[in-house]
Amino acid sequence: MFAFWGSTLTAQIIDGAAIAKRVRAQAAEGAAAMLAAGGARPGLAVILVGEDPASAVYVRNKVKACQEAGFHSVLETYDAALTQDALLARIAALNADPAIHGILVQMPLPKHVDPQAVIEAIAPAKDVDGFSIASAGELMTGLPGLRPATPFGCMTLIESTGVPIRGKHAVVIGRSNTVGKPMALLLLQAHATVTVCHSATPDLAAHTRQADIVVAAVGRRSTLMAGMVKPGAIVIDVGINRKDDGKLCGDVEFEAVREALGPNGWITPVPGGVGPMTIAMLLMNTLQAARAATK
Ligand code: NAP
Repeated sequence: MFAFWGSTLTAQIIDGAAIAKRVRAQAAEGAAAMLAAGGARPGLAVILVGEDPASAVYVRNKVKACQEAGFHSVLETYDAALTQDALLARIAALNADPAIHGILVQMPLPKHVDPQAVIEAIAPAKDVDGFSIASAGELMTGLPGLRPATPFGCMTLIESTGVPIRGKHAVVIGRSNTVGKPMALLLLQAHATVTVCHSATPDLAAHTRQADIVVAAVGRRSTLMAGMVKPGAIVIDVGINRKDDGKLCGDVEFEAVREALGPNGWITPVPGGVGPMTIAMLLMNTLQAARAATK
């Protein structure tokens, strides 16, 4: 009966699709400006090994986004039987190719290939995924560098709310090298007070209830529920899961949490939140790498 009031008293949605579109337009403008100034066209090489259907969709989307932004892009696809040595040789060739400013090897790789060896083979200046030890070290020490696209995108989403991060209490759920840990470091760099929770955290709700910002990066639906948030908080849902009906969902119980956050809160949906940002930030990283290479 309070449907109208209910809808106005729920948290505002952070529209990742719209924000990603703006970031992609910025990347396209940046590429056009480089070309107009007589510089290089930013170039991204994407390598796919094997026939994983989800990976094939991801790489196609990345290449398409490059094309739409006016970037040079190369897609190399290999049979799952490709040896590690052959893959490393291809990376070495791309490291030496001046038309390529970013190299991305789509994960997961076949079992006989060591992913860390592959990541470390990419020249740090071309590590647009930001997964190498060199990139992680730059982030850890606060040096400029290429930041992992997903947490970088989450920061852009948080900043889009206009709520200052400085001095806020941020809780990151998850501590993976690709999402949770870099997310915590980016928030720390933005002067938040950061708590990192994980599978051995005994009382998750006790932490999240105190948070001004919650980033959920677990990969388990219903990790964050209505009783676990503070009104007015910002909730960023990184998780990608499937409901029983096969539809996509995040780690957050969206409708219930949105209501619990109240009108001063903010929340990202799944799909349409963090997901679209990852490719947008990959383009920005490629542009950044191209600018640095041609300075
Ligand atoms: P991951 O490597 O599996 O890490 C999951 C993290 O969650 C781990 O640190 C784990 O703790 C923690 N965790 C597990 N159960 C927990 C619990 N009950 N309470 C608190 N923490 C718990 O996953 P990931 O690669 O970081 O990805 C996380 C999610 O984000 C996945 O759904 C993934 O598909 C999604 N994702 C989305 C994008 C995007 O573009 N939208 C990009 C990357 C990832 P331990 O360390 O103790 O095991």
